[in-house]
Amino acid sequence: VPVTTYWCERAWLPDGLGGIAESVAIEVTDGRITSVLPSAPRTGTTLPGLTVPGLANCHSHAFHRALRGRAHADGGTFWTWRDGMYRLAERLNPDSYHRLARAVFGEMVLTGMTSVGEFHYLHHPASGRYTDPNAMSAALAAAASDAGIRLTLLDTCYLAGGFDVEPNAVQRRFSDGSAPVWVDRAAAFRPEGDLVRLGAAIHSVRAVPSQALPTVAAFAADRPLHVHLSEQPAENEDCLARHGRTPAELLHEAGALGPRTVAVHATHLTDEDVATLRRTGTGACFCPTTERDLGDGIGPARQLRDAGVPLSLGSDSHAVIDPFEEARALEMNERLASLARGRFTPEQLLAAATNHAAIGWPEVGRIEPGFGADLVAVRLDTLRTSGIAPDGVFNAATASDVDTVVVAGSVVVREGRHVRLGDVSALLADTIGELWQQP
Ligand SMILES: [Zn+2]
Repeated sequence: VPVTTYWCERAWLPDGLGGIAESVAIEVTDGRITSVLPSAPRTGTTLPGLTVPGLANCHSHAFHRALRGRAHADGGTFWTWRDGMYRLAERLNPDSYHRLARAVFGEMVLTGMTSVGEFHYLHHPASGRYTDPNAMSAALAAAASDAGIRLTLLDTCYLAGGFDVEPNAVQRRFSDGSAPVWVDRAAAFRPEGDLVRLGAAIHSVRAVPSQALPTVAAFAADRPLHVHLSEQPAENEDCLARHGRTPAELLHEAGALGPRTVAVHATHLTDEDVATLRRTGTGACFCPTTERDLGDGIGPARQLRDAGVPLSLGSDSHAVIDPFEEARALEMNERLASLARGRFTPEQLLAAATNHAAIGWPEVGRIEPGFGADLVAVRLDTLRTSGIAPDGVFNAATASDVDTVVVAGSVVVREGRHVRLGDVSALLADTIGELWQQP
């Protein structure tokens, strides 16, 4: 079996291997790291600057990328943004979604993301079903394969337009009609290849009636289960009015919280909700650039982490795709809210940014023998990064400073360029332009 060697000017190793080290030789066999040797002579492929483990994008809706920079002119609220997102959803079919998602996943890899949890709810055509009821899932899997990124397809159950509200015309594209029918379709999807896995999602307590929650939770017994939780105060108020409980309490009673569950956003939680997440081992995924774009608020990241809740990060609506900015915003939002600095250590920001386990890849996210060979070389000689201390990379770098990205041992990005897709900017411009040109 061939062995590939990457030689890093510097690499951010786990604390047990000494943290940030110089002249690190990393041997890779069959997509896995087999040895890590600091202070090694230069050999193999050189990775410049600081090499960090592949970064995890734990919350994505790929098609929202087409709304970037198009949802601000009129101001508006979260709910008017959602109307724009629905207009976009109406225009997509498996072919156009494949081309859009290929470009979006290509953008993600260029920023250093080596896995994505795609929270996928755009399942069906405007009427009826596709010949393959999982045609949209297959389009996303093909797009991820083209782009060279690990994909966890979080097949999302979405049945209602709100508490006791039937889905509207667009939302019917998201709905399978009932939870058992959703299970049958989701279970029929067969991921192909080593870089695709299947997970599940509850869109929200608004979109999945309480009596259907246990069915989704049962399907996800051995898979990651994600759920939008308490993103907006209105969701909490409606849930309290309808059920007399917070969304977290409702999910807990339905058996939907646990070590495989990730609460996405977790912005407006009570202290009791935080305790419930802790007791059940549930994780929390913050999406700071989206949460600020949509005016959601600042969630209790430090409080959750102090309670032992594992944190992860996602680019969600893709108003921004930049894992360095997400990690930085986790810290900066805390500073603005708490009036104190240094709320997360550099190691804690790295842990949140590399939490592939949150989307079902526990063997990825550390530069250590036995782990998946996902490596991101960040230049330390750019305008933004020249002169920084290497462990300040999340305070200073942007996605533009990523030079090389290795996914499962293969070079997918070299010198800031996607080696398979070429000009990803042009792909984005073409596919997004076509969508909005449709009548
Ligand atoms: Zn979302």
